[in-house]
Amino acid sequence: MAEKPRIVGIDLGTTNTCVASVRNRIPKVVPTDRGNLILPSVVALSAKGDLLVGNVAKDQMVVNPTNTIYGAKRLIGRQYNSRIVQEIKGYFTYEIVEGPKGDAAVNLGGSTYPLPQVSSFVLAHAKRIAEQFLGGAVEQAVISVPAYYNDHQRQAVKEAGLLAGFDVKRIVNEPTAAALAYGFNRGLDQNILVYDLGGGTFDVSVLQVTGNVFEVLATGGDTFLGGVDFDNRIIDYVLAAFQRETKVDLSQSPIAMQRLKNAAEAAKIDLTLIPNVVIELPFIEERKGKPVDLRVPLSREQLNELTRDLVDRTFAICDRVLEEKGIERSTIDEVILVGGQSRMPLVQQEIGRHFGKPARKGVHPDECVALGAALLGDSLGTIDAVTLLDALSMPIGFALPNGRFRKIIDKNSIIPLTTSFRLPGPKEHSPTIELDIFQGDSEFIVDDEYLGTVKVPASAAGRRIDFRLNEECLLEVVVDLDAGPRHVALATRDTPDTLKRALADERQRRMTVAAAAAEEPRAGLMSGLRRIFGRN
Ligand code: AMP
Repeated sequence: MAEKPRIVGIDLGTTNTCVASVRNRIPKVVPTDRGNLILPSVVALSAKGDLLVGNVAKDQMVVNPTNTIYGAKRLIGRQYNSRIVQEIKGYFTYEIVEGPKGDAAVNLGGSTYPLPQVSSFVLAHAKRIAEQFLGGAVEQAVISVPAYYNDHQRQAVKEAGLLAGFDVKRIVNEPTAAALAYGFNRGLDQNILVYDLGGGTFDVSVLQVTGNVFEVLATGGDTFLGGVDFDNRIIDYVLAAFQRETKVDLSQSPIAMQRLKNAAEAAKIDLTLIPNVVIELPFIEERKGKPVDLRVPLSREQLNELTRDLVDRTFAICDRVLEEKGIERSTIDEVILVGGQSRMPLVQQEIGRHFGKPARKGVHPDECVALGAALLGDSLGTIDAVTLLDALSMPIGFALPNGRFRKIIDKNSIIPLTTSFRLPGPKEHSPTIELDIFQGDSEFIVDDEYLGTVKVPASAAGRRIDFRLNEECLLEVVVDLDAGPRHVALATRDTPDTLKRALADERQRRMTVAAAAAEEPRAGLMSGLRRIFGRN
């Protein structure tokens, strides 16, 4: 019998990437070339023009910020013109540009790189590490994505995997993978809540685990709440303390800010283990030709005070997600922690208080997603395969002429699924019917993400159209035409010009209204945006 091709599970994170493989039915993380269990999701172009990935790329970030790409996960699969990209693009140290297909892309050394290509460099590096460690070719992968990723973002991650040389067997939702790592083959009958507080985002999912059937009951989160917000609170505190003492405003110096950002994160992590730290940055600035040192003590108690409202926000989101599906808090049997920020003692303490039981120990927050993805990969095609019943995190529908959104598939619908409806008629005298498909929570398309346009002849008016979501939560559209059912590819994923103009006009109108309404609109906008990526 031919040997089974080797498959790995990959957690392609905002901050770090983790790879795992299964041997003798036991999943294990693959160590990197430096012996670490995680690899920074960072890609850079050195001064000599060498492509750097992982630790070496991260190490040179302070001195080469414009050619160091981090946080690609925030941008991959998003349209350059989308509201989110337009809002956050000024907050990266590198340049974000429009890619050839209208997607967000980055400028690296004067060339444009689409985000799937950037992420493929990280994945290809992970592939090499796995091949070295496992001693042979690794061709297949299961790659995890956030539950809230839309169709576009999932497709983009799949493309990144293919570019890296993988046969991507499955895209799996991160909380589902974490649940698998916890419950696979344990014969459980439990409701579990996956609390995922990572570098930039917070996600919560509730799953029912019955044997090896993992059913997602509800999911939700905040794409702009994570570790970086905790770091920013420390940065603000240190900046104010330093300014009080020295009258020097460090916020104007990019290099000082980058150093402070690193030091703030390190202090935060140290305060997980020890009760007091001192943030020390020698020669942070010059005053009257003399170097000035920064030295600010910080205690865990102070950190808790500075960040308590952020932790509280995570629980408000948990409650909302539970309420939406009418799930009682008391029916949660276990809370599983994912994401580095969930290690913070205040988070763990408040989980105990909120859910009436401590978070589950023994599930590693940095590793469980990769381990679960590896377990899923190993079980694909086997007799005792797991059954995943995942849920759609945001509704899908199409644009109505008045800029509103007609929902076709509801949030939290269990996938895979097919929803059918009748095609509306064409616009006046048009030879084609065009449906602009969007995904998002808002009833206004301007706030949602454009997925693509379905184009069919006008004669198809009134015919049946199916929206099918497969187990990877990828959308297929099938139209019942005279010649029989036809798959309609959302080929032109670039937003059509007319739609681009309409969306831009609507955004402009809203900004004008907002500017008129707020006395200091800029200040509000800036403080809101600063949260997103820190200050760099
Ligand atoms: P992730 O995206 O899951 O890799 O999470 C990264 C985030 O977790 C970053 O904001 C880190 O600063 C944060 N983090 C990692 N370890 C700790 C720790 N021990 N205590 C608090 N935060 C941590």
